[in-house]
Amino acid sequence: MANYQMLIEGKWEDGAASVQVLNPANEQVLATVPAASAADADRAIAAAAKAQKPWSRLTGVERGNILRRWAALVDQNKPHLAEVLSQEEGKPLPEALGEIDFGRSWLSYYAEFDRRIEGDIIAADKPNEQLWIVPQPVGVVVGIIPWNYPSALTLRKAAPALIAGNALVLKPHEDTPLSALELAKLAEEAGVPPGVFSVITGAGEVVGEALVKNPIPRLITFTGSVETGKHISRVAADTVKVVSLEMGGKAPFIVMDDADLESAVKTAVFARFFNCGQTCICNERTYVHKRIADKFLTRFLEEVAKLKIGNPLDSGVTLGPKVNLPELVKVERYVEEAREGGAEILVGGKRPGGDVFKSGYWYEPTVITNVRQDMKIMQEEVFGPVIPIMEFSDFDEGLTLANDSTYGLAAYLFTNDMNRILRAVRDMEVGELYINRGPGESIHGFHGGWKQSGVGGDDGKYGLEEYLQRKTVYIRYQG
Ligand code: NAD
Repeated sequence: MANYQMLIEGKWEDGAASVQVLNPANEQVLATVPAASAADADRAIAAAAKAQKPWSRLTGVERGNILRRWAALVDQNKPHLAEVLSQEEGKPLPEALGEIDFGRSWLSYYAEFDRRIEGDIIAADKPNEQLWIVPQPVGVVVGIIPWNYPSALTLRKAAPALIAGNALVLKPHEDTPLSALELAKLAEEAGVPPGVFSVITGAGEVVGEALVKNPIPRLITFTGSVETGKHISRVAADTVKVVSLEMGGKAPFIVMDDADLESAVKTAVFARFFNCGQTCICNERTYVHKRIADKFLTRFLEEVAKLKIGNPLDSGVTLGPKVNLPELVKVERYVEEAREGGAEILVGGKRPGGDVFKSGYWYEPTVITNVRQDMKIMQEEVFGPVIPIMEFSDFDEGLTLANDSTYGLAAYLFTNDMNRILRAVRDMEVGELYINRGPGESIHGFHGGWKQSGVGGDDGKYGLEEYLQRKTVYIRYQG
């Protein structure tokens, strides 16, 4: 068992108390981390404010070089980082290795903006005047992240924040703080100055709350649940901060009768069950055209039967445990309510038996039919290895069902009909649309939710804008 410290003002510290981090596959204690206080949070912010100005006065290339060194260190330490991640979150090792690569790619990508953050010189309305619009860092940024991608999300926030000249105080989730702490060690080694990147661990209601309340930060970039996001938004309003919210989803997966069935089946299974169904863009509800529904279901069940549930570090495993007990119980509750409402559980619907699964937070891959659109399982984010499948009659109905949600993060469509594709591009109420392909964002795209899935977004040049503010300068000269 390791005892981790947190990083504040470039110093590794214990807190007044500590909390345990459990391995969700066996409930053994992996490590302890500090349970920081509100006062620790305020100190981290004060240190960030002190460090931010000198950091912003480095040239973009100097900051970019530090990000490039950090990226190289992430690469060199990939096996260790992936193992820590897999053990604290429960994802199979190959997925953890993929996540490390994904996270590293933001460091490399945003390092390229070292010479590319640009302002404007625009025509002045008055004679002998210059009018400039100058990009500047927002100052101190607070990043608050969930447990499902604790490594990638650390770097998704850190890379754009730092290249833009900000200082970042990051608070990882209480269940998965180790990945961020490991990355902070590498940041230090890469030369990120003290205070420019801090990682503070502890309870959301204590540390997170204090970070959001503190008047100094100008941007809160949050990834997590809608409930917490709404709360953060309200608290941040008191000090008029910019709030960027990346929240939950209920992605529909529509399969039309002209789709490539094999590809649709395999993609639908992957899109539901990767990371044990715990991804914001997961296939949360599958709609299949009635003409192909029987064939689709038969093949879907065959593919689900191939999933291998087990220890995330074992080779060949494709499905790990849920991250914690409340999350497991939540999934059980959704399935029970659906069953009581008349749904049919075709496979799964319970915790697996056997010695391997005696401890840990396991749930069998579960396929449910006979569902209605008004059921909770079709409306609320389940975030587990459970897929409800429903038939529909025509494309219009498919679109209506897909848009019938308070969420608007992602959607999937399988069809070869160009008219339907273009209508989906026009009419789907989501921030991310996958057509004839599975999940997975590109670093230079834009990842943001519509409706109650979010405000603002991450990645690419649009994501970077959130970490900048613009100053308009009017200059009069004589001559
Ligand atoms: P959560 O909202 O419970 O926790 C997220 C973070 O908020 C944690 O670090 C937590 O400690 C902190 N927090 C809790 N209370 C707080 C408070 N009062 N003030 C400040 N911070 C507080 O979410 P979760 O269960 O960790 O994550 C799962 C959710 O995240 C799902 O809904 C998922 O869809 C969403 N998610 C969204 C994206 C996206 O990009 N849209 C990506 C990953 C996860």
